Amino acid sequence: MPPLPRPPPCDPNADWPIPKLTIRCDDLAHPGAQLFFQHINPCEALREAVLAVYCWLYTPQTVPRNVEKILLVLRPMDGVAHTFGSDIYKEIHFSLDHIRNSSARAKDEIHGVIVHEMVHCFQHDGAKHGGHCPGGLVEGVADWVRLRAGYAPPHWREGYGGTWDAGYEATGYFLDWLEERYGYGVVKELNDILGKRAYGEEVFRDLTGRKVKKLWKLYRDYVDEGSPSGSGGPALPTEGVSRLSLDY
Ligand SMILES: [Zn+2]
Repeated sequence: MPPLPRPPPCDPNADWPIPKLTIRCDDLAHPGAQLFFQHINPCEALREAVLAVYCWLYTPQTVPRNVEKILLVLRPMDGVAHTFGSDIYKEIHFSLDHIRNSSARAKDEIHGVIVHEMVHCFQHDGAKHGGHCPGGLVEGVADWVRLRAGYAPPHWREGYGGTWDAGYEATGYFLDWLEERYGYGVVKELNDILGKRAYGEEVFRDLTGRKVKKLWKLYRDYVDEGSPSGSGGPALPTEGVSRLSLDY
């Protein structure tokens, strides 16, 4: 893989619709809050995350214009973060405890999590046309944008995961390989299709000419060839860096 990140695939100064960006902190004395405000300019970070999502998943012609307001809530809680809301209003909850526990690399981790959650504010999943796509694909697209935005955490490893839709960075790196092999914009087209019709596995065949199971096998072969031992792929993340949240 080439060095990360690539240049943005679009003009960040284009006429992108930026929702009203707001923030609430439920405990300013929390060490996580102190780290957040020490390292992050909230307005810039949220705006940068919105633009990352727009640039990697949309064009000025296809970008959703329904989201009017996004609220970032910083509060003590289990897990990492989650996002919910309506068509016009989104709320991202981000754990101050997670920020405290990531103090050694707080700035990159905060940016990375905000980008991931921001994807959930805007991505398509086919639900409006009946039936969501697999949750692993939703999470994989979110981590792929995080990867492309330059905020992959140091413990991420290419080739992790037993199936293409294992989710998170496992699926994110698979999607990145699709971009390398079938051309930049494959993930953008995938997202675009999920805004127009219900999900079906044939979407991968439409984009690449191959079934997703075959694509996963080719990807695994690629990973195995690149691993030092010649088989098995890179080491899996250890327990100490395993994911803490089901919601992230
Ligand atoms: Zn997520």
